[in-house]
Amino acid sequence: MIQEIFRKVDEGRGLERDDIRYLLENRESVEEAVFEKARAITDLHFHKKIYVRGLIEFTNHCHNNCYYCGIRRDNDEVERYRITPEELESAVAVGAEAGFQTFVLQGGEDAYFTDERLADWVRRIKKIQPSCAITLSVGERSMESYARLKEAGADRFLLRHETYDPAHYKKLHPKEMDQQKRMKCLKDLKALGYQVGSGFMVGSPYQTIENLVEDFMFLQEFQPAMIGIGPYVRHHATPFRDFENGSVELTAMCIAILRLLFPTANIPSTTAMQTLAEDGRNRGILAGANVFMPNLSPPRVRKSYALYDNKAAFALEAAENLRDLKEQIAELGYEIVMSRGDFTGRENYN
Ligand code: SAM
Repeated sequence: MIQEIFRKVDEGRGLERDDIRYLLENRESVEEAVFEKARAITDLHFHKKIYVRGLIEFTNHCHNNCYYCGIRRDNDEVERYRITPEELESAVAVGAEAGFQTFVLQGGEDAYFTDERLADWVRRIKKIQPSCAITLSVGERSMESYARLKEAGADRFLLRHETYDPAHYKKLHPKEMDQQKRMKCLKDLKALGYQVGSGFMVGSPYQTIENLVEDFMFLQEFQPAMIGIGPYVRHHATPFRDFENGSVELTAMCIAILRLLFPTANIPSTTAMQTLAEDGRNRGILAGANVFMPNLSPPRVRKSYALYDNKAAFALEAAENLRDLKEQIAELGYEIVMSRGDFTGRENYN
C-alpha cells in the first residue's frame, strides 16, 4: 500500500481518502518511510533551506469566543494589549537589521484595527524593508477589506480553516461563528491574488481521523500556498480546559502527509509543536516543514499572546539569537536563509 501511495505522489496524482486514512491509522508502522519520503521531496524543492518569518503578535484583543483559544473574548484573565506603531516599527527594524524578508502580523479579531489603521501599518513595514513580503493573519474580514489591505502592500494571508467538517466546526466555536463564512474568506483571499495559507489543529477536541481525512481532501482541492498546522494545546481558562493536548507524533505525521501532497508549499514547524516537545521544532522540520517563525513581538507583550498554556517562544531580541538558531538548524543538516521564500506554484511539482 505504501509503495502505491508513494507512486501516486511521484506522479503528482494526489491521494484518495483511503490512502490518507491508511497513513493516519498505521502511523507507527509507516512513519519512518513517510518522513523519509517527505524529507526527500522537501530537499528536492528547498535544497535543505529553511525560510524564516518574523512573527509580530500585534494585538490580543479578540471579539471571537473560540472554545479552544486563550485570547477568546470571555477570558478575562488575560491582560489585553495592542502594540503601538512605534513598537511595530522597532520590531520590524530589529528584524530588518537581521535580514528578515517576511513579516507576519498576527492578532485577534480586533475592531480597533480598521482597514485604514492596518493598511497604514502595512505601509510602515514596507517603508522600513521595501523588499519584504507581508503576511497578515487577522481573521475574517470582508472581501473589500482584504482588497484594501492587498492594495496597501500585503502579500500573503494566513487563515486556518480549523476543521473542514461543519459539525466539528460547531463543536469548536460558538454558534455565531460560521464555517461557511471562513471558507468564503479563503476563496476571497485567493481570488484577490494573495498567497493564501490555511490549516488546522491536530487533536482538537472531538476531532476524529475522518475529520483529518476531510481536512486533507479540502486542502487538495483548495491548493494553498502555505499550510500551518499544530497540535491543539490546552489553555486553563477556556471551556476546553479539561481536554487532552494533541499529539506531536500525529502532528509530525500530518506535516509529512502535507509534504507528500504539496511539494512546494510553505509549511512551518509551529510554536505549538515546540510547546509540547523540547525538540518539537526539529521534529517538524524532519517531517518536511521548511519554514520557521521566530517571534519579533515586543518583549512586554509576549506573555499575553497566550493562545495556550506554556507557549514556547524562540524570540529574536538580538543578533546572537539568530546566530544560535542558525547553528541549531545547521546541526540538523539544514540552513537558515533570509530570502522571501515566495510560493513558486504547482508547476515545479515534479
Ligand atoms: N484571529 C486570527 C485567525 O482566526 O486566523 C489569527 C489568530 S488565531 C489565535 C491563530 C491560530 O491559533 C488559530 O488559527 C488556531 O488554529 C490557533 N490556536 C488557537 N488556540 C489554540 C490552541 N489552544 N492550541 C493550538 N492552536 C491554537
